[in-house]
Amino acid sequence: MSAQLLEGKPAAEKMRAEIYAEVAAFKDRHSFAPSLAVVLVGEDPASKVYVKRISKSFADAGMGCNEVVLPADTTPERLQAEIVALNGDPKVSGIIVQLPLPAPLTEKMVTDVLSPDKDVDGITPMNAGLLMQGLPCFVPNTPAGGLELLKRNGIEIKGKNAVVVGRSNIVGKPMAMLLLHEHATVTICHSRTRDLGAVCREADIVCAAIGKANMIKGDMLKPGAAVVDFGINPQEKGIVGDVEFSSAKEVAGWITPVPGGTGVMTNVMLLANTLAAAKRALEK
Ligand code: NDP
Repeated sequence: MSAQLLEGKPAAEKMRAEIYAEVAAFKDRHSFAPSLAVVLVGEDPASKVYVKRISKSFADAGMGCNEVVLPADTTPERLQAEIVALNGDPKVSGIIVQLPLPAPLTEKMVTDVLSPDKDVDGITPMNAGLLMQGLPCFVPNTPAGGLELLKRNGIEIKGKNAVVVGRSNIVGKPMAMLLLHEHATVTICHSRTRDLGAVCREADIVCAAIGKANMIKGDMLKPGAAVVDFGINPQEKGIVGDVEFSSAKEVAGWITPVPGGTGVMTNVMLLANTLAAAKRALEK
């Protein structure tokens, strides 16, 4: 058996077309473009590449993207003052801060001041709490994109057993909440889980957000399972996921390729959330 691919590109292209049309209509109606501010502290080359990619995708969508680059020795007070200024700027619809931050800066220093209304990657406790309660909120882009891939490929979630491996606030936990709201029976695994293979073999849907190359093998999957691999692990020969693709595709019914699966969707969800933030700001 060879699994069908849960490819990000076709789903992302379809979503992009929908978003571009909505942005054009928004601009006609309101005479300004939804805009994102990206705060980047320090000179991390990988972050710079990522920010350039975001910038381009916003330009392609006709949306604004303002890079706020701060020196690596930025103080907590300065970082928080920048975020507070962006919170109050009506031209800024959404804000993301590139993580991880150089010490002594912490993510909490950001979430303490970032306005939940502009928190388009859903990192604030307010948005996490709203997600948990099933209320309207900004959902972190990566799990939102993973769910979208499942839905757009017609994979049934209701009543299914779903296993999420990983419990970070940005991927694992929100993915588990999203699946729960779609009426899956959800199990969350982590580094202390006993016999991960046995748990995963019970799952109709497996979502891997571990950060360890090729950890989930084909013999840890139930035949026909849908596998969503969030892993991005740079190796000598390129990027690989948290799931061993070669063995998993022989057992799974559906599987995301890496690259070309969930990563592509993350970027589109950021466009969608920024547009949504711009719309909500006008409703207030
Ligand atoms: P974290 O390091 O924050 O979390 C990893 C999780 O995996 C933890 O909960 C950890 O458990 C768990 N874990 C580690 N080892 C094991 C193990 N042996 N068995 C079971 N669970 C284990 O990572 P992130 O959630 O931020 O990212 C996960 C992956 O997703 C990474 O590869 C990252 O690059 C990628 N990513 C992809 C994105 C995309 O767009 N596709 C965006 C963001 C991230 P514990 O809590 O016990 O330590």
